[in-house]
Amino acid sequence: MKIFKFGGASVKDAKAVKNVATILKRYPGESIVVVVSAMGKTTNALEQLTNAFFYSSENAETILEGIKKYHFDIIEQLFPDRSHSIYNDINNTFVELDWAIEDDPTHGYDHEYDQIVSIGEIISTKIVSAYLNEEGISNKWQDARDFIQTDNTYREGKVDWELTQQLADKHLLPALSKTKGAVVVTQGFIGGTSENFTTTLGREGSDYTAAIIAYTMNAESVTIWKDVPGVLNADPKWFEKTQKLEQISYQDAIELAYYGATVIHPKTIKPLQNKKIPLFVKSFVHPADAGTVINEGQSPLPIPCFIFKMNQVLISISPKDFSFIVEENFSDIFKLFADSHIKINMMQNSAISFSLCIDNDRYKLPELIKTLQNHYRVLYNEQLELITIRYYDQATIDRVTINKKILLEVKSRYTVQLVVQND
Ligand code: ASP
Repeated sequence: MKIFKFGGASVKDAKAVKNVATILKRYPGESIVVVVSAMGKTTNALEQLTNAFFYSSENAETILEGIKKYHFDIIEQLFPDRSHSIYNDINNTFVELDWAIEDDPTHGYDHEYDQIVSIGEIISTKIVSAYLNEEGISNKWQDARDFIQTDNTYREGKVDWELTQQLADKHLLPALSKTKGAVVVTQGFIGGTSENFTTTLGREGSDYTAAIIAYTMNAESVTIWKDVPGVLNADPKWFEKTQKLEQISYQDAIELAYYGATVIHPKTIKPLQNKKIPLFVKSFVHPADAGTVINEGQSPLPIPCFIFKMNQVLISISPKDFSFIVEENFSDIFKLFADSHIKINMMQNSAISFSLCIDNDRYKLPELIKTLQNHYRVLYNEQLELITIRYYDQATIDRVTINKKILLEVKSRYTVQLVVQND
């Protein structure tokens, strides 16, 4: 059995959905679980809808109308027969969303967010499933919330692996083992709690869903279909000349994802590594091309890999009385960061100061700095870049830091991280 994951870009319009069918037709007789994200930028639009609903900041109805129109435009192109049941089905799903935003919020922001934002995946999978059936790719639509069980950490649901395994055996396995060449279509990104609420697994979490399913089903492989030819050694947004990597070890893949390479969600690798399931990253434009495989191979990458993070803040924290910064200070500081859900991208300490590089979150950061200032002297620099190079050499460092001032540098054997400012 194979697991295929199609992200937002691969189902962003009618043409893209048709392409999903074309790709699946290349695998006749194979059992495949198709994991689908919300279409195009729907998750962003639903986030905006959640904000409008929760904070009454904008007109929620207008935003929802835009989301409906986008989906119905796609449906009309895929299903010219207006009496097709998909019209009713999607209408009913949107009615649930209408109801959800009609009354005032009853739960906290994160909880409401998950109930609303998850609808993007419910709708996209219904459309893709119905279209594949039309195309003769007979498949079963499966609600991921029936088998991916999480705790109630909304927006970052933690998977209950034991329960998920049991439920996947009960709900997912029968559909796949009944006939040869069975296809199941399910949602990425979402899970369910024991109280039957919906959770999400963190932004871009559909890759992780594919890995969870692969783990529970002991799949032979996972393929993530993307708009790039595979994993590149740098994001083409920042680099003119990028090179595709043929093969990456699990170890390198997890390091690259950890440092912020956006090509794969960081949580995806662990379940796959644990069961030695290979992960392919392939182009949905050129599906016959080899792409990149992430597997057990040990060899280091043949070329340096670059990860750029923009809009960074470098914070320097020191005790107010010139005393050493010691273990108790670290544990206080880390707790504050963990409680505010702020991820530290890089850190370094000296006798009296602790420096951290983080994303500039205009909501969370001012609050955090205020709290830190109660106990420490806090200095910070904004508008910085964080450059990470895995398999660096001095020539590469020199090349990427031309016209840049290095404020902080942390080197390990294979990786260098540089916080830089434009000169
Ligand atoms: N639709 C979700 C997002 O945009 C999950 C995903 O695409 O992986 O974050």
